Amino acid sequence: MNDELEKALLEAGADIVGFADVTGILKPEIAHLKRAISIGVCRNLNENTLRILSGLRKRAVTILKKKGFRYLSIPADSDRIKDTFIAKLYPLFPHKIAATSAGLGWIGRNGLLINPKFGPRLSLTTVLTDAPLITSKPVETSQCGECSLCVEFCPSVAITGNEWSRNKPYIELVRLNNCRGHKGEIKEVSGKPNCGLCITICPYGRKIHKKEEHKAEACY
Ligand code: SF4
Ligand code: SF4
Repeated sequence: MNDELEKALLEAGADIVGFADVTGILKPEIAHLKRAISIGVCRNLNENTLRILSGLRKRAVTILKKKGFRYLSIPADSDRIKDTFIAKLYPLFPHKIAATSAGLGWIGRNGLLINPKFGPRLSLTTVLTDAPLITSKPVETSQCGECSLCVEFCPSVAITGNEWSRNKPYIELVRLNNCRGHKGEIKEVSGKPNCGLCITICPYGRKIHKKEEHKAEACY
């Protein structure tokens, strides 16, 4: 089942796929869904990326449905959709939790998922399921090490420098008000709230970044 899902998703345009055991970390209403399929594409989260991620979720759901498994498909931008069931779930289960649980990476000082190959350049989506998928070992601690480039270069002093670990999931990494304020100022000048320096500067996945540099944008 893992192989079938992974192959289908990679063929459909995913750059990375992981399988996580989420037993005990979901709300009682959805606790019967003990597995998460974490799907990433190496692109900035924009309308086109949302379409690709939506197609990938549908691909996974079609396979699960055909085999009679239950599922809950969580859109990539579900935190932006107001007053929906999914929007209420999203803060309880951000895609980054699924990705770290699936061993795809850690949460960097910049508050983004850092994958060893793609760095902070993945846009993520998640499908929860009760299918008995084989899961990977979760990532427990940050691998940022001595690096603090994003802290030093953030123009709004938004990045605290704190280090994430699974036993400190709520530690403050990014002062969101500073980041949003800075993006708001940029928007007034350029019309778009773009910054993304904390992505550009991250040494992980920088080679891949070269191709996408002009598109980098951090989404919290
Ligand atoms: S997007 Fe810009 S302002 Fe926001 S945390 Fe990253 S570097 Fe700082
Ligand atoms: S720039 Fe350095 S400290 Fe910041 S997220 Fe990347 S590796 Fe971690």
